[in-house]
Amino acid sequence: MKKAPRISLIGAGIMSATLGILIKKLMPDAQITIYERLDRVGAESSNAWNNAGTGHSAFCELNYTPQRENGEVDISKALKISESFEISKQLWAHLLQAGEISTQSPFINDIDHMSFVWGQENKDFLKARYKAMNKYGIFKDMVYTDDFDQIKDWIPLMMEGRNQDETLGVTRMEIGTDVNFGSITRAMIRFLEQCDGVELLLAHEVEAIKQIDNGWLIESKNLTSKQDKTLAAEFVFIGAGGGALPLLEKTDIPEARGYGGFPVSGQFLKCNNPDVIARHEAKVYGKAAHGSPPMSVPHLDTRMLDGERSLLFGPYAGFSTKFLKNGSYLDLPLSIEMHNVWPMLSAGIHNIGLTKYLVTQVMQTMEDRFEFLRTFYPEADINDWELITAGQRVQIIKKDEEDGGVLKFGTEIVTNESKTLAALLGASPGASTSVSIMLDVLNQCFPDEMNTKNWQTTLTNMIPSYGQSLIKDADLCMSIRDKTTSILKLD
Ligand SMILES: Cc1cc2nc3c(=O)[nH]c(=O)nc-3n(C[C@H](O)[C@H](O)[C@H](O)COP(=O)(O)OP(=O)(O)OC[C@H]3O[C@@H](n4cnc5c(N)ncnc54)[C@H](O)[C@@H]3O)c2cc1C
Repeated sequence: MKKAPRISLIGAGIMSATLGILIKKLMPDAQITIYERLDRVGAESSNAWNNAGTGHSAFCELNYTPQRENGEVDISKALKISESFEISKQLWAHLLQAGEISTQSPFINDIDHMSFVWGQENKDFLKARYKAMNKYGIFKDMVYTDDFDQIKDWIPLMMEGRNQDETLGVTRMEIGTDVNFGSITRAMIRFLEQCDGVELLLAHEVEAIKQIDNGWLIESKNLTSKQDKTLAAEFVFIGAGGGALPLLEKTDIPEARGYGGFPVSGQFLKCNNPDVIARHEAKVYGKAAHGSPPMSVPHLDTRMLDGERSLLFGPYAGFSTKFLKNGSYLDLPLSIEMHNVWPMLSAGIHNIGLTKYLVTQVMQTMEDRFEFLRTFYPEADINDWELITAGQRVQIIKKDEEDGGVLKFGTEIVTNESKTLAALLGASPGASTSVSIMLDVLNQCFPDEMNTKNWQTTLTNMIPSYGQSLIKDADLCMSIRDKTTSILKLD
C-alpha cells in the first residue's frame, strides 16, 4: 500500500470503529472516510438495546462447548472465543488509559457469568464441561456447584419457588462482563474524528462500490440533501452489519458469488419491576432446546445501560425480511440472485429443524414466552414484563459443493483476490470478538505490513499479548487479565 492510503469504512458500528482505530494507529497518515446511512453512530446491531451486551468469553455460553458422542466436551471454540475477548479488553483498556476514549458511565461492567442447567443429563454435561475448562488458566476461576443452598445464595431470584429435590447444576465466573457496545463504538468514533485525515459522513448511504484500476469508487447518497457523492479508495471495508451482503453483491467480485443471507430478529422480555431487577445480579445462560440454533440459548441477564440496571430474558426469534432493524422489507427479496438462489433453497431444505423452530417462535403468544421465562424464574409475574425487539441478525448461507448450500452461524470475512476489499458477514460471537476479527482482516489484506517490526511494535503496545497465546500461557493470561481488570475497573 502506498503512502497516505485512502480507506473507506462502510458502516459506523463496532467493527468499522475498531478497524478504523487499528488502521489509524498503524498508518497514521491514512485518509479514512466512514460512511453511515443513519444520522448517528453505533445505532444498529452495536446499539446496547439491540444486542444482549454479553462480553462473550465462553464462561457461560453452553453452545460454545458441544458434547461429542463419546461424552467428551469439546472446548476448543470456547478457548478461542475467551482469548478473543481478552484481546478486545486489552485494546479497550489501552484506549481508556491513554485518554483516547471516554464515556459518561462505564461501557463495561463486572457481572457474574453463570451457566444454569436442570436434569441429570445436563448436570453431568455441565460438570464434564467444568472439568475440561478448569484445566486452563483462562477459565481457572470457574466454580461449579449442585448444592441447592449455594445456588440460592448466588441466584436467589431464580430459586424462589423451586423444590429442594430439583437436580440442578451451576457454574460461576465472577469476572464476567456486560458491555455497552454502542457506547464504546461512539467513543472510538469520537476519537477517530479528532484524528487528522478522518471524515465521518453521517446520513450517507453507500449505493455502489465499483472496481477501478487502482482501487474502488464508492458512490453514496446524502439522505438529507439527496446529493450523490463519489470518492475513490485504495482499500474498502464493508462493515455494514446486515447491510454488508447487498453491498458485497454490488462489488461484482467473484468471491461474493454463492452467498445469501437469512434475517432473524431478536426479541427479549424486559422487566419493569425495580424490586425484581434489584434481586438478580448475573448473566445466567441455560441450554438451548434440542434442534434450536446457537443464537437461541436462553439467558436471564442483568444489564447495565448508561448507568442504569435492567433485567432481560430471551432471546426469542422474530421474523422480518429486513436485513437491518432500520432497513427495508425488500432487503431479503432483493438479495436473491441467480448465484445464491440454489444455495438458499438447499440450506432451507437441509435445515428443516431450524425452519420449524423459527415458525414456532414466531407463532408464540406472550403467554408461551412467559412460560419459558418461568423455567428460569418460576415465580415471575407476567405483569412485570414487556416484549421488546432487539437487532436483526443475518445468518449467512454459503454455497457448498456437496449440500448445495449451508447455513453458517459464525462470522465470515470475504476478500477479493487483490486484497483491496474486505466484507464482514454474520454476527456471532460478534462485538465481543471485534478486535480479533479486525486483526484477521488486517492479516488477510495487509500480510506484509503485519509482519513488519513497526506494525508489530504498535500492535503490542495496544494489545500486550499480541502474537502470544493466552490459552497456552496461563501466567501471561492472569497478568494481562489483572491489568485490564484494574484499568477497566472490573473489580
Ligand atoms: C439480538 C442480538 C443479540 C446479540 N448479542 C450479542 C452479545 O451479547 N454479545 C456480542 O458480542 N454480540 C452480540 N450480538 C452481535 C453484535 O451485536 C454484532 O456482531 C455487532 O454489533 C456487529 O457490529 P457491526 O459493526 O458489524 O454492525 P452494526 O453495528 O449493525 O453496524 C453496521 C452499520 O452499517 C450501517 N450501514 C448498513 N448499510 C449501509 C450502507 N449501505 N451505507 C452506509 N451505512 C450502512 C448501518 O446503519 C449500521 O450502523 C448480538 C446481535 C443481535 C442481533
